[in-house]
Amino acid sequence: MKFQAIKGTRDILPPDSALWNRVEQTARDVFGTYGYSEIRTPIFEQTELFARSIGAETDVVAKEMYTFDDRDGDTVTLRPEATASVCRAYIEHGMHTLPGNVKLYNIGPMFRRERPQKGRYRQFFQIDAEVLGQSDAPAIDAEVIEMLLVFFERVGLRGATLSVNSIGDKNCRPKYVELLREELRKVKDSLGPDSQRRIETNPLRVLDSKLPEEQAIIETLPHIADYLCDDCRAHFAKLQAELKLREISYEINWRLVRGLDYYMRTTFEIIAPGLGSQNAVCGGGRYDGLVELLGGPPTKGIGFAIGTDRLILSLQDATKDAAPESALDVFIAWMGEKSYAPAVQLARQLRDAGYAVELPPEEMKFKKSIGLADKLGAKYALIIGEDEVASKQYSLKRLADGQQNKYSMADLLQHLHGARAS
Ligand code: ATP
Ligand code: MG
Repeated sequence: MKFQAIKGTRDILPPDSALWNRVEQTARDVFGTYGYSEIRTPIFEQTELFARSIGAETDVVAKEMYTFDDRDGDTVTLRPEATASVCRAYIEHGMHTLPGNVKLYNIGPMFRRERPQKGRYRQFFQIDAEVLGQSDAPAIDAEVIEMLLVFFERVGLRGATLSVNSIGDKNCRPKYVELLREELRKVKDSLGPDSQRRIETNPLRVLDSKLPEEQAIIETLPHIADYLCDDCRAHFAKLQAELKLREISYEINWRLVRGLDYYMRTTFEIIAPGLGSQNAVCGGGRYDGLVELLGGPPTKGIGFAIGTDRLILSLQDATKDAAPESALDVFIAWMGEKSYAPAVQLARQLRDAGYAVELPPEEMKFKKSIGLADKLGAKYALIIGEDEVASKQYSLKRLADGQQNKYSMADLLQHLHGARAS
């Protein structure tokens, strides 16, 4: 029997894992400068938490959750997204008593039973950030978006575009949804089965349809912007002013609705190149009222989730022609029994100084050693034979051009340091 990773899951192998780490570390660094701290929530929660927050009629809850009965009869679900868990934790730990807005980020795997394809997996990863508190000022929304764009810039994502929309609140959205439903019923027969179903269950989601044959019809539907209440209209106008203040370019996409029920007012999405139809690398929006819905105090909230798998795919697509950079600094080519102990010590000293070092566990012939150093992509080979041990002068060979010099240990560190800095 041969084991394989389960469909829709995958292994992240070196050297890709290094890129993953860099991306996640960049998120930690950038989000930290905006006052966010990390929260780690459990991978599974009570099913009801997700059913209630995401909404029973959404695709995620209706057909994509990994739900199972626990041994004691509880029903639990592998988290399909992070916001519900963060809100649950916010309530559970009384975080509303903390000063100012509570800004949290969460990095980790999510689970949805979708049809696997490029950029769509059953276990996928998100970098998620949330702001919870008493204010719903549009400046918060704009700062969240600014932070996101700074992060994308810092990881080197090029050509990403931002779309924003307002989907109203509980005052104005129901009227719009009803109007939309009426309009959709008139054209029902021209729509596909998914959209036909959504006319009754979740008409906003029809706007999200990617089916080519539905596009012309959808374009004729009423726009929510024309039906926003005064407060929502003012909020959306202020958001745009705040984005302009930050020199953030965006487009308004009136069809941008999010797939989860808890969103209201601001919604946004970021599209990245090189991904085909799974091109949304980040979705987010405001969810005032979600904490209350889950039994907490009245709270405003906004957040986003970056699809890390897609972000990585896009970054790799952009750099696919570049030579991979090796992490290995020094390969120690030691020869002869007497060289082994100094080789172990040198390896330790170099590693202490922060260099990545490969020390062959068994003696190798010189040519084989250099050959392996080359194949591993080492920047240098440090050659230690009996002469070097006797003189305490070690030969450092730069593998790119074969240039070779002898150094004492202290000089060696200084030389490597200088080479790294330049
Ligand atoms: P999509 O429309 O692409 O299905 P979504 O609206 O379901 O996305 P959200 O629930 O808002 O996505 O999640 C935020 C981000 O997480 C998405 O923009 C995407 O980058 C990523 N994402 C969502 N589902 C998956 C998945 N199955 N595999 C990989 N990434 C995903
Ligand atoms: Mg989806």
